[in-house]
Amino acid sequence: MNREQALREAVCEVGRRLWQKNFTAATDGNISVRLSPETFLCTPSGVSKGFMAPADLMLADASGRKVAGEGAVTSEFWTHLAVYEERPDVCAVVHAHPPKAVAASLAGLSLDEPVLPELLLTVGGIPTVGYATPATREGGAAIREIIRSCDALIIARHGSLTVGRDVFDAYFKLEKLEHAAETLLWAHLLGHPERLSEAEIAKLYHLQKTYNPGMRLFRPE
Ligand SMILES: [Zn+2]
Repeated sequence: MNREQALREAVCEVGRRLWQKNFTAATDGNISVRLSPETFLCTPSGVSKGFMAPADLMLADASGRKVAGEGAVTSEFWTHLAVYEERPDVCAVVHAHPPKAVAASLAGLSLDEPVLPELLLTVGGIPTVGYATPATREGGAAIREIIRSCDALIIARHGSLTVGRDVFDAYFKLEKLEHAAETLLWAHLLGHPERLSEAEIAKLYHLQKTYNPGMRLFRPE
């Protein structure tokens, strides 16, 4: 199997998981991977991510234009392009609407609070960026700066954006983001989750730098 076909199949597999795990509803969400410096595979607009076949994916160029495929390039591709422009290390982007993480943003609850140490070590900080009209270039502008310093973020009132070295890496960050949102939801229902102490945060910060030096740090130097 050639590389492009393997990537197409990987995107479809992640699409099925997005839908099966309720991270997207109906035709929501979108996925892209970097195929070459100038070309990208991405999901088509208006198609359920749970039922895609490899041939359904679109090829787009670095200006957002369709190169090949039936249908239209995902309307959120501007946001994906902004990520690829800002992060040469990123080869995949997953955008979804995970309900618990979005509910947290509606309630003003941040996933960026240092309360779950393992999340800080494996995903890093998960900031929330302000609302931008979906499916417009506003989405790209809203995340452009912050994506330089994180691999996962919440777009207020809308959804999640996770990035990675490949499509499974980006997808697993989404799984962890939504799992953290669920854990925090339970914690808030049961009581008042406490932040880690500053000393414990400093230890984790040091550990993160040695444990995974390539990853985005959960707080600035
Ligand atoms: Zn969306």
